[in-house]
Amino acid sequence: MQNEGAGDDVVTAIVEPTIGKTPSEAEVAAARNAINAKLTYAVGKNAVTASDRDWFVATALAVRDRMVDPWIASSKQTYAEGLKRVYYLSLEFLIGRLLFDTMNNLGITETFRAALGDLGVDLEKLKTVEPDAALGNGGLGRLAACFMDSMASLAIPAYGYGIRYDHGLFRQVVKGGWQQEYPENWLSFGNPWQFERAEVVYDIQFGGSVEATMQSNGVPRYIWHPSETIEAVAYDTPIAGWRGRHVNTLRLWSARAVDPLRLDAFNSGDHIGALVEQVRAETISKILYPSDESPAGQELRLRQEYFFVSASLQDLVFRHMRTYGDIRSLPDKVAIQLNDTHPAITVAELMRILVDTRDVPWEEAWDITVRTLGYTNHTLLPEALETWPVALLERLLPRQIQIIYLINAIHLEKAKKVPGADDAFLASVSLIDEGGGRRVRMGHLAFIGSHSINGVSALHSELVKETIFRDLDAVYPGRINNKTNGITFRRWLQGANPGLTDILVDVCGPQVLDDATKLEKLLPRVGDAALHDSFGSARRANKIALARLIRDRLDIHVNPNALFDVQIKRIHEYKRQLLNILETIALYQAMRAQPHKEWVPRVKIFAGKAAASYHKAKLIIKLANDVAQVVNNDPVVRDLLKVVFLPNYNVSLAEMIIPAADLSEQISTAGMEASGTGNMKLALNGALTIGTLDGANVEIKEHVGDENIFIFGLTTAEVAERRRFGIDAAGTIAASRNLADVLDAIDGGVFSPGEPGRFAALTTSLRHHDYFMVTADFDSYYAAQRDVDALWLDRAAWWKASLNNTARVAWFSSDRTIAEYAKEIWNVPVEPMA
Ligand SMILES: *Cc1c(COP(=O)(O)O)cnc(C)c1O
Repeated sequence: MQNEGAGDDVVTAIVEPTIGKTPSEAEVAAARNAINAKLTYAVGKNAVTASDRDWFVATALAVRDRMVDPWIASSKQTYAEGLKRVYYLSLEFLIGRLLFDTMNNLGITETFRAALGDLGVDLEKLKTVEPDAALGNGGLGRLAACFMDSMASLAIPAYGYGIRYDHGLFRQVVKGGWQQEYPENWLSFGNPWQFERAEVVYDIQFGGSVEATMQSNGVPRYIWHPSETIEAVAYDTPIAGWRGRHVNTLRLWSARAVDPLRLDAFNSGDHIGALVEQVRAETISKILYPSDESPAGQELRLRQEYFFVSASLQDLVFRHMRTYGDIRSLPDKVAIQLNDTHPAITVAELMRILVDTRDVPWEEAWDITVRTLGYTNHTLLPEALETWPVALLERLLPRQIQIIYLINAIHLEKAKKVPGADDAFLASVSLIDEGGGRRVRMGHLAFIGSHSINGVSALHSELVKETIFRDLDAVYPGRINNKTNGITFRRWLQGANPGLTDILVDVCGPQVLDDATKLEKLLPRVGDAALHDSFGSARRANKIALARLIRDRLDIHVNPNALFDVQIKRIHEYKRQLLNILETIALYQAMRAQPHKEWVPRVKIFAGKAAASYHKAKLIIKLANDVAQVVNNDPVVRDLLKVVFLPNYNVSLAEMIIPAADLSEQISTAGMEASGTGNMKLALNGALTIGTLDGANVEIKEHVGDENIFIFGLTTAEVAERRRFGIDAAGTIAASRNLADVLDAIDGGVFSPGEPGRFAALTTSLRHHDYFMVTADFDSYYAAQRDVDALWLDRAAWWKASLNNTARVAWFSSDRTIAEYAKEIWNVPVEPMA
């Protein structure tokens, strides 16, 4: 394949921008015919009987066709030019919908809109028919999806590898204020984007024993005799980059049994037993673990991790050997990036492939492994870094645990040479945690086996070096680096906010679509009243659309002229939705005390899911909903304050809320949010941030300027110090009239009439331990919110700050992030886009 004409038949399908351009009649006719043909011959319907879903599938298939030629061309070019490939291994891809994203990147949105219009179909209506691909929990999975878009846009040959879960993140329903979880069914009507690769199947093996033999050359050889085999089947989704000039592959693995059923058992009447093995195998790709920022910890999770790592490594080694025929060139032609600790078993598995199946001597195999792998860390919480019991690994992956022991032995020899290395130091850098049952530290394994370990914001990377990996950094200095996260502006600005995008194209020129730094052309005009009006109209239209959605879903009427104050993210104690709710209550009480003061009307908008087993997070959701009940029905506050909890937060809901936000809540306990990406999406769309000096907020502040962001609260160092010396939460509460009144109201049952103890689990920990510093930061947060009110009343100043946000956050494009990974970790070239 790589010898076919050295790339001279490569199709370069550079797409012209269509924003503001009318497509030609011929283009529209071609799209119309394509959609019609798909409806007839792929869906099997005619225009009279077709449902919206049928039209969506026909349209998606017609759009998918447009990706296939450049997809094949991209792959041919990679082979022809012997380009290095990037493999992005992630247990999560939080993709959302693909129709508009793909059409936008291919520059065919207006063509298809017109074509469907001719057929009597409203493209906007089709949008809501597409289910979200929610194969992730939150930021980590969404980052992987943004990276796929940027890698394709920068023409980096790349594969995303993950699991094709039958059921993604649960659907959240709020009943009586409580979260309930329902299974999500994104595949129930098929998936028009995927290509099933029935021929791309790998055996994945577990269990059994290891046989040691001596070869004639005196080198021992280990043969794994697994006791269980299942199959991984590939499903490919093409991911088109900006202007369609490069198309990459997202390859997701589905698990199935080697034998569809046991016929002997079936024939002897055991109909259920005949299917047991099939069920056991398919369980692996059945469902996404719905936990965020905490390890799932069960055997099935380890099976998932090994399943997708093993399939992906077999696949990429096969591709490499077919092309180059020499495993030793792997680091020159392949870069593997581990998205968090979940795929850490890659280190042992790649060593096993090299040493056991490719006969590479150990030292050389280790050199190949380290030069090929990079590891991205996403969390500092020591308890959130995965560890697996040695006994479990011995049972499930007996050869890999042997390899881990050998890696560790060599590693500890190296560690002993570090000046001052004592027993405590060696215990802390060991791959085996000997305390409380022996466990393998997977973060350590990923670190030792990678040439690059990166954090995801400047602050986080510093903390990675100073805390969890301080000792490993002493053994392997220079490996830790920073790659501040980013977001794809194509989805989060162009796709989600076409009204604002039109204005930006007007002011900054159409190049702003290719090159985010062109947003800086706004800077000379941030004080321009006419531009404030344009921004204001675009925002207002988005707020009206969101207000309609709130009315339709919750029957709550909100005023589009009010300040839309938004906190949308997973529900976590460290993200401190509770702090926001307490401030809401304080504001409510102040309004009741002085109903005729000139209050800034606010709508407090919350959305986010809690892990099903995270009781406090679910109680926080209940409190938000109970506060909403009381506040929204109190005639005294009228239209001045509304509280809204929008259920089932996902990518599509984010795309509705973000363009309508005035204020972005990024209020995590300092030192606890690795980066955040929601903060970037909101700032890009012109929302002002109220936040702590945490994660990427620090860098957002540096970019937008101190005067265009509301910073409050303890710093990371101050939080650490308070924790060291013990927290006097009771003293803090006693010193704040405002805070004491809020807590008394909750404990007095104001929001839970007849059940004053309902929120005791929350208030008790606030009054005593308050690990997350909610009480400590309350007064400064409340004061910052009043600064927000003051700025809101000065409309020109508010819009100036808002424009400054949009103008100065280009650096948070995932194109910038990926260009840094490419240059500093992967060593692959990047084609500039414009
Ligand atoms: C961006 C995004 C996140 C991450 O939000 P943070 O505020 O950074 O935690 C989570 N979920 C969805 C659906 C997103 O789009």
